[in-house]
Amino acid sequence: MSVEDRVFVAGAGPIGMVAAANLAMRGVPVTVFEASPTLSSESRASTFHPPTLDMLDKLGVADDLIKEGLKAPSVQYRSKSFGAVAQFDFGDIADMTGHPYRLQSEQFKLTRIIQRHYQSNSNFQIEFNQAVNRVEQIDGGVRVQVEQPNGATIERTGRWLIGADGARSAVRKSVGLEFEGFTWPERFLVISTPFDFRSAYPDLASVTYVADPRQWFFLLRIPGMWRAMVPVDSELPDDVALSEAFATRQLESIAPGAGQSAILHLTLYRVHQRVASSFRRDRVFLAGDAAHINNPLGGMGMNGGIHDAFSLTNRLAGVWHSELDENVLDGYDRERRLVTLEHVQKQTIENKRNLEAATDAEHRRYCEEMRETAADAAKSREFLLRISMIRSLERAAELG
Ligand SMILES: Cc1cc2nc3c(=O)[nH]c(=O)nc-3n(C[C@H](O)[C@H](O)[C@H](O)COP(=O)(O)OP(=O)(O)OC[C@H]3O[C@@H](n4cnc5c(N)ncnc54)[C@H](O)[C@@H]3O)c2cc1C
Repeated sequence: MSVEDRVFVAGAGPIGMVAAANLAMRGVPVTVFEASPTLSSESRASTFHPPTLDMLDKLGVADDLIKEGLKAPSVQYRSKSFGAVAQFDFGDIADMTGHPYRLQSEQFKLTRIIQRHYQSNSNFQIEFNQAVNRVEQIDGGVRVQVEQPNGATIERTGRWLIGADGARSAVRKSVGLEFEGFTWPERFLVISTPFDFRSAYPDLASVTYVADPRQWFFLLRIPGMWRAMVPVDSELPDDVALSEAFATRQLESIAPGAGQSAILHLTLYRVHQRVASSFRRDRVFLAGDAAHINNPLGGMGMNGGIHDAFSLTNRLAGVWHSELDENVLDGYDRERRLVTLEHVQKQTIENKRNLEAATDAEHRRYCEEMRETAADAAKSREFLLRISMIRSLERAAELG
């Protein structure tokens, strides 16, 4: 079988699409295999951090994403008992980014915008109903087995493969890499509602984390609605957790009156902290959820995955055009895996622990710390650089 002179990508989620777009833009022929018949319209990530928008700008897709989203200029931290304790304004780090805000825009908008912008690029190819289910390394290439809608399997051979096929990655399993870490006992429930929580809390920011030793929650405004996220006890059966009655009770406990509002959408999901044992095996790379997953507090999963995609494809494009030595590819695992462990995993675990502080004394201590951080210009700036992931990218550049 002839080797196609292309890079293969498994998965047309946000990470696979960003990787493919950057390769195509840099003159590298790329084929994306997507298992589903269309791009996903699932309601998942909706936060884009400032440096991620800076990267997407280079692909020419940030402006459309911004038009379809909502700019959140600040992030707020509250206590259920004491109200607002701290607020941080991204304008304070405007010298570090061209996009000094969090953008709230669903991830399915990004994949569609990329498809629209790149479908006429002759290097960019996407094939739907093609599930990559086995991978074999060959001399100078990678052979993949691709399952067809009729159940038959065909073989395709390309030069390199990027596994961006999500948390259950068939690519990761096929090359025998472990997914090390743990699963939190509670699940998270996301309730989408048209209720405007600012009617209950007039000083609320569009992105607000509310700490409470009994039940923390997270409020996020996206175009046309709000999302409330709450933890759900591990013992509660799924059908109860996903019932309208349960969601209504949660909304009412967040803000009196909210329970009377419509429920537009419910998502219940398990939350994990896991990182692949390596992000590379020979000519196969992992990126995005295939390589790492974390809790959504801080909105770092998809953002970190997009940072992976840029780091990897900038290197691959250089090697493809013989501008860089192949050993730059070794740096991908070193850089992105360490940054994932040191920053994304650490920060998201810390975010969860802070919101749920087990005792009233711990909760008060956390609120006091947040107040002090917000009141001190240097500490506040450092905090913003950390939560916007700029510090993680600086560390990545150091590790190179
Ligand atoms: C409720 C929720 C809220 C979240 N909020 C945020 C947030 O605000 N900010 C943030 O940064 N992150 C957030 N995340 C995480 C974010 O959604 C993921 O990190 C992101 O979707 C990862 O993108 P991906 O492309 O790696 O994987 P996915 O989005 O899972 O895409 C994988 C793609 O691969 C396809 N596929 C699967 N198997 C195969 C195969 N064998 N062959 C070919 N194709 C295959 C799938 O059909 C899919 O299209 C959230 C997650 C959830 C569940």
